[in-house]
Amino acid sequence: MALGIISIFRHHGRQYIKDLRKASIPEGFRGRPVIAKDITPEEQQTAISVCPTGAILTGPFRLDLGKCEFCSECAFAVPGKIRFTNDHRLAVSKREDLVIHAGEDKPLAVDPLVVRKEIRSYFGQALKLRQVSAGGDNSAEMELNAAGNVNFDMGRYGIEFVASPRHADGIVITGPISGNMSEALQICYDAVPSPKIVVLAGTAAISGGIFENSPELRREFIETVSPDLYVPGNPPHPLTFINGILDLTERK
Ligand code: SF4
Repeated sequence: MALGIISIFRHHGRQYIKDLRKASIPEGFRGRPVIAKDITPEEQQTAISVCPTGAILTGPFRLDLGKCEFCSECAFAVPGKIRFTNDHRLAVSKREDLVIHAGEDKPLAVDPLVVRKEIRSYFGQALKLRQVSAGGDNSAEMELNAAGNVNFDMGRYGIEFVASPRHADGIVITGPISGNMSEALQICYDAVPSPKIVVLAGTAAISGGIFENSPELRREFIETVSPDLYVPGNPPHPLTFINGILDLTERK
């Protein structure tokens, strides 16, 4: 029996990622985009024409990660002028910081000046979160589940999802917030004791994504709260989510 278990452990090897703060994702992952400074007006128009969500804007030319589906169509359309790096650290605390301008190649980060003081004083050691799938397609939800698996193991930092909002310190919203989930989302938020945090995980939660202009969405909730963390991606990678939470709560 014991030999059998040892054999299984040896076969599995070491599954957990030792240092999530320094972990990198192989080339090919679509992370933070970089736009060449010399992208021409014609190339800009080509990129705009293939973008399904209106994430690319002009005056000045820029790409809004809060609307980006990471489909890479723009990078295919103007090769060499828009490229996606494997930098997975995309979470920010200000919505406007998700906008990437031509010629910029700098990491995205949580701005400590806008993080509420109580977040760091109350949630610096442990953070329990209630996840609300508000019309999501289960992709972001699966990645959030993966954040707690044996590989990423965010529980090592005291970060966990809990079943009841009464036991939570905040909510993580996925999905574009459909009409039939808007009331449930509000009820869940109200049930979380204060102080509480709000995290938007995934492009759909941040902007509505491809459903942005759908009459079936009810996104008024987002306007009544000030989200503390924006985690872009379609879906966001577990490392993007975990490192964003760690930056927000100032964990080393
Ligand atoms: S990768 Fe983003 S910006 Fe580029 S075409 Fe797709 S949605 Fe638009």
